[in-house]
Amino acid sequence: MYTLKNNSIILSEPAKAFAIDLARALDFDFVITSGTRTPAQQVTVMFEKLRLGDDLSKIYADKNFAREITAAYPDSAKALEIVERYAKTNKASAHLRGLALDIRITDLTPAQQSTVIDTAKNMGGYTLYETTPPHIHITIPDNYSAGGINVSVAAPSAKKNYKFLWYAFMAYRIYKMVKK
Ligand SMILES: [Zn+2]
Repeated sequence: MYTLKNNSIILSEPAKAFAIDLARALDFDFVITSGTRTPAQQVTVMFEKLRLGDDLSKIYADKNFAREITAAYPDSAKALEIVERYAKTNKASAHLRGLALDIRITDLTPAQQSTVIDTAKNMGGYTLYETTPPHIHITIPDNYSAGGINVSVAAPSAKKNYKFLWYAFMAYRIYKMVKK
């Protein structure tokens, strides 16, 4: 199961579908710390990274975008203008398009963190391990819809088969009793 860090976190439909499938695939709970962001929230996140000494060019695929925001710091009005301009080109951040999830890692073991990364990749996601603050960023595939991974097929069907065998066995016993 997943929980949202707080009620200001918004998940788009594809992000929600991805989170549900990811939660089904994992045998432990996780916390989503970021979903869809407004341009202003995006500025806050990027400025926080800069404040903590992070190198934006290592995090953002578009190096020009990273460079411009770094140059604008700490002028948030200027940065907002930059984010809005890049948002139109779909290059700024997948969070602006509702195609990203951040998962808290401070409450996960290293093995669980690897499992999150592997599972998200199997579901077609792109993952990035980030440190300011510590989280796993997942860019989810465009138009992701529920069932993007065969997560719950094995367990429930095995249970169903077991139940079927039990019914068959009981039917056989009743048949034997009636026959006597
Ligand atoms: Zn992220």
